[in-house]
Amino acid sequence: MSNLCQPGGGASCGACCGLYNFRDHSRAAITRVLGRHTERLRDVPRTPEAFRAAARAIAAEEQPPAFVDVRVCPLLGFLDDGPEGRVGCLGHPLHNGGVDLRDCGVYDARTCQSFECPSFLWLSAAEAEWIRAACPDWYLYGLVVTDVAFVRAIERLVERALGERLDAARLLARPEALRASRRLFALKEAGAEGARGDALFGQFGAPPEGAVSTEPVLRTIDYAALGARAAPEDEVVLCLSCAPRRLEELEAARQQVRDAIAGLVAALSANEHIA
Ligand code: SF4
Repeated sequence: MSNLCQPGGGASCGACCGLYNFRDHSRAAITRVLGRHTERLRDVPRTPEAFRAAARAIAAEEQPPAFVDVRVCPLLGFLDDGPEGRVGCLGHPLHNGGVDLRDCGVYDARTCQSFECPSFLWLSAAEAEWIRAACPDWYLYGLVVTDVAFVRAIERLVERALGERLDAARLLARPEALRASRRLFALKEAGAEGARGDALFGQFGAPPEGAVSTEPVLRTIDYAALGARAAPEDEVVLCLSCAPRRLEELEAARQQVRDAIAGLVAALSANEHIA
């Protein structure tokens, strides 16, 4: 598996450092958070004492996390000094002329060095490359590459429509299919925008009131309360941080997914006729 965290081509990820762990994890809100971290750490002397003190000060000003069990690292920022570049660790030795300051964040350097999220295990190299090529920016890339359930649910819907297995390598060869993939993946960004203020992250939500565990829980759709029946698009709908309160909201979310899947299927089919 290639480097999922910093794969190049404009993509980069910092999800395991708590990048999206805010009730408002819209692009604008997260850009502000990372901009503040970057600015506050820019001129701090590259010594553990100074960096640790600055990291503590940043953490003290941070918004409360959406999920208390997921840490938010104050060292996460813009490696290229602005939101057009990569996100990553501002304490990493590659960013500090060889000085390793990662122990000043919420994890220690050994943990940071060795950690690989479940996507390393579950995504094939072709799937990872598909996501990287379709999401050449840090915000959307991180949302998608860490949500294997979303990617797999999309693949199932596309395969159902095509009537055959989807080969991610086949998508990579078709620019229009990559553009359609981006439109489909971007539903996650729109979902994050729509869920602002709620403790929702993709399929996950806050534990019920009074629960012993504070860990995020997998959400389901309450079909009985909505007067609805299950539909093939529902797994993707949940991954969009969507929590429909009325049947019309559920139907609208499903239709968005159907339209985006149809766009990708059409792009794949059109290219096949030309080839
Ligand atoms: S969430 Fe996964 S891909 Fe993203 S930075 Fe962490 S380990 Fe890398």
